[in-house]
Amino acid sequence: MPELPEVETIRRRLAPVLEGATIESAEIVDPRLTRPVEPESVARALVGERIASVDRRGKYLLVRLASGRILVVHLRMTGSLRHAARGTLPEDAHRRATLELDSGADLAYRDVRRFGTWELLDADHVRPYFAARLGPEPLAASFTAARFARLLEGRRAPIKAFLLDQRRIAGVGNIYADEALWRARIHPLRTAGELSSDEIAQLHRALRAALRKGIELQGSTLSTYVTPDGNTGGMQHEFHVYGRLGEPCDRCGRPIVRIVVGGRGTWYCPHCQRARSL
Ligand code: ZN
Repeated sequence: MPELPEVETIRRRLAPVLEGATIESAEIVDPRLTRPVEPESVARALVGERIASVDRRGKYLLVRLASGRILVVHLRMTGSLRHAARGTLPEDAHRRATLELDSGADLAYRDVRRFGTWELLDADHVRPYFAARLGPEPLAASFTAARFARLLEGRRAPIKAFLLDQRRIAGVGNIYADEALWRARIHPLRTAGELSSDEIAQLHRALRAALRKGIELQGSTLSTYVTPDGNTGGMQHEFHVYGRLGEPCDRCGRPIVRIVVGGRGTWYCPHCQRARSL
């Protein structure tokens, strides 16, 4: 599933293509994308709208429209967006929606497993929508180590599960949680509320560094993720632990192991990431 760095990469590529353009036509062919709202009604509402900006919150893309409404896109497992000059996108059985822009570009949404969502929200619904779903942005200036410490206080969940909970921190998924914990030398099963202030500071730094590295390398392509111009990311070549069962730790050379935390495959170095703080 695309995480914060993948969605941010998509946002950065789409923004120059979409911003300022007007949607000339909209076709949404999969009712699952917009349910419970009829796809035709979302498509009708999009036509004639000018795109003011493309933003991101957690793993969501926010296409802000000149009317004040916002198209909130979540790619879930296999959603992706492609743009190309009008009429040049190849036929695709998994295409769920297409927007034609007055700039001469087409924007296509593709989704093999069909878990992705498009929701059209009124401006005053956006804040409560995200308040109910997402914690702070980990790369925001306001996300300090002290704020992170307050979020962790009293939390009984394993730190890995805490990092994956979008209501605690927005945008972190399985890859960047494992990478951050390896960087910070913290065992994924440590109780979130029991980390020392040094460990919290290390994890805060490590989480931001792992996410920034992902953005710098334009995300991780494991199966279906592509950037909007059809390229793959490069982060998958830079993983320290994720998916590297049995391979040597980049720090100590001992083999990486895999466990399951909260139902998710979790990779770590049992030497560098000890179960208890010493
Ligand atoms: Zn190690």
